[in-house]
Amino acid sequence: MEADGLCFARPRAREACGVFGIYGPGEDVSRLTYFGLFALQHRGQESAGIAVSDGKKLDWHREMGLVYQAFDEPTLTRLRGDLAIGHTRYSTTGSSTLANAQPMVGKWKGGTVALAHNGNLVNAIHLRAKLEAAGEKLHATSDSEVMLRMVVREANRTGDVLAAISACMAQWQGAYSLTILTEKAVIAVRDAYAVRPLCIGRLNGKATVFASESCALNVIGADYVREVKPGEMVIADRNGLESRHVLPSPRQALCVFEYIYMARPDSVIGGRLCYEARRGLGHQLAQDSPTNADVVIPVPATGWPAAIGYAERSGLPFGEGLIRNWYVPRTFIQPDQRLRELGVRVKLNPLREALEGKRVVMVDDTIVRGTTKRGVIRLIREAGAREVHVRISAPPYKWPCYYGVDTSNRSELVAARCRTVDEIREEIGADSLAYQSLEGLLEGVAVPRRKLCLACFTGRYPIPIPRDVKLSKLDLEERAWRQTKDSR
Ligand code: SF4
Repeated sequence: MEADGLCFARPRAREACGVFGIYGPGEDVSRLTYFGLFALQHRGQESAGIAVSDGKKLDWHREMGLVYQAFDEPTLTRLRGDLAIGHTRYSTTGSSTLANAQPMVGKWKGGTVALAHNGNLVNAIHLRAKLEAAGEKLHATSDSEVMLRMVVREANRTGDVLAAISACMAQWQGAYSLTILTEKAVIAVRDAYAVRPLCIGRLNGKATVFASESCALNVIGADYVREVKPGEMVIADRNGLESRHVLPSPRQALCVFEYIYMARPDSVIGGRLCYEARRGLGHQLAQDSPTNADVVIPVPATGWPAAIGYAERSGLPFGEGLIRNWYVPRTFIQPDQRLRELGVRVKLNPLREALEGKRVVMVDDTIVRGTTKRGVIRLIREAGAREVHVRISAPPYKWPCYYGVDTSNRSELVAARCRTVDEIREEIGADSLAYQSLEGLLEGVAVPRRKLCLACFTGRYPIPIPRDVKLSKLDLEERAWRQTKDSR
């Protein structure tokens, strides 16, 4: 998708964060966490951090940048212990600064606690206001700090961190998959709707591992055990593994975007391999939106499995028509429209030999605001393609996310701006354009509707959004929309 490093300014759907945790006496937990974070790098590239405990005290390190930039050998050697948590961050609530890097660490009267968060609280501003009214001084701007401060306050009050986490879970509204570290335990927590993924693994028959995605278990050689359940707290300590069902779950609402592009294709989420879900989306798309063409090409890299699925079901040959430069950073920013369109070439180069004289089907997973897609289509035409037919493996997305994915505001979403698919087709300059239907999405992903959040396609939010939060976001969008119109 355009989000996959192809968009050149802020507005796009972006990954949220990756969390990791390990209780592994006798293991090199800081290096295992470091490797785990590498596997979760796609979920966040702004900062990375690890907190470890040796059973008596916590130590930690957080830095801006990619995992390999955040840690060096002396730092990993310093971070000695038996249990650890880690985090890769992409800002959703809160700005991209070191103060917002995670794990967040706080002291309570019985010790220290560190917290790593993936998701977004919808009532964070209310909780923050309550904390501030109670005299708390907050140093960061993220909802994760609010969560940590609440746990610390509650632990000071009750003298029990686990009871404090349970009490806080009852107050947190929204999406949160957490790993939490104390001196003696690693704790994994998932909200009542289980919007963001979190799984449990076993390493060498004794260490317990928690990770946002199963690919992080694979990387360190751990076996997948199961998912953390909606509303569940799982505690790993010297007594083994304890599960507490803290919150009743009205239903699961896993973010469908995890299947469409967000998770790594080699991750299993909810029992479904993401690669297979994406291939299934391609099958469904080919069935519902066939076209006469000579070759099917993906927009690398997230469009790949859906393009393979499209080729398989349509019987058309699969080919590589675009070669990606992997060294362009994801935050590659172009200041204006002209440079933004030129910037597409920095990222992608068309393969003339594969495209010349051909009718091409280009498969991708979303269109965000259309600028990049228009640039890519132009490149394909310049390379000699006769026709360019665009097939999108997800429905048009029109609604903002409040649960931890930094989507564009509505004024920038091409699907919200244009009234018809044909208007979008015209805007991006394709010969034909088809999106997946909502039914096709569910068929292709093959996960029951009742287990998914589909709100950015339907506008129906499984976790209620406080009215003032919704209004303030819509108000900001309305203003941006007017500015966009005025500047035309
Ligand atoms: Fe995912 Fe969209 Fe739901 Fe956000 S609103 S959790 S991006 S499906």
